[in-house]
Amino acid sequence: IDPHQMVINAIRSVPDWPKPGITFRDITPVLQDPRTFRVLMDIFVYRYMRERLDLIAGIDARGFIVGSVLAYELKLGFVPVRKKGKLPFQTLAEEYTLEYGNASVEMHTDAVRPGQRVLLVDDLIATGGTMLAAAKLLQRLGANVVEAASIIDLPELGGSKLLRENGASVFTVCE
Ligand code: IMP
Repeated sequence: IDPHQMVINAIRSVPDWPKPGITFRDITPVLQDPRTFRVLMDIFVYRYMRERLDLIAGIDARGFIVGSVLAYELKLGFVPVRKKGKLPFQTLAEEYTLEYGNASVEMHTDAVRPGQRVLLVDDLIATGGTMLAAAKLLQRLGANVVEAASIIDLPELGGSKLLRENGASVFTVCE
């Protein structure tokens, strides 16, 4: 079986969560099964093993799981992009708009050094707002965002298109 298909088969779609009309794509079964988890991580490892990278930045919270395994395997450091108010040291924030209201992501100001080649990782791209805000934050810190990588893209929500329009390279395992 094709590795991408194996990941797709393990993703659980939960109707009407977190609210009516929304179908939540749940990756916990992907992580729970040891072979599927390994297949998923191998897809990322093979894509980036020959790429010159300095650091992996993972988005709160599922981006931490994929991002830190990838960082370990590629022998790179890992830095978190967190939701507001979670980081203890000096932070820089980037606000973005949600369907209702605003959200923001934060990073420690010393998380990256100018010119470092950073791979940004999350589990899912919907509207692309979170990934775009994280990429902007990294750029404000002087990082070179090599690619935005995610397990799932929901193309009908336009997030990957928005990211590409903003000059980002985007890689997703499945749609
Ligand atoms: P966006 O900012 O609209 O692209 O939403 C992406 C962010 O929301 C990511 O950090 C995801 O973890 C989370 N997210 C949105 N929808 C889902 C879903 O169906 N499954 C898992 N995460 C989701």
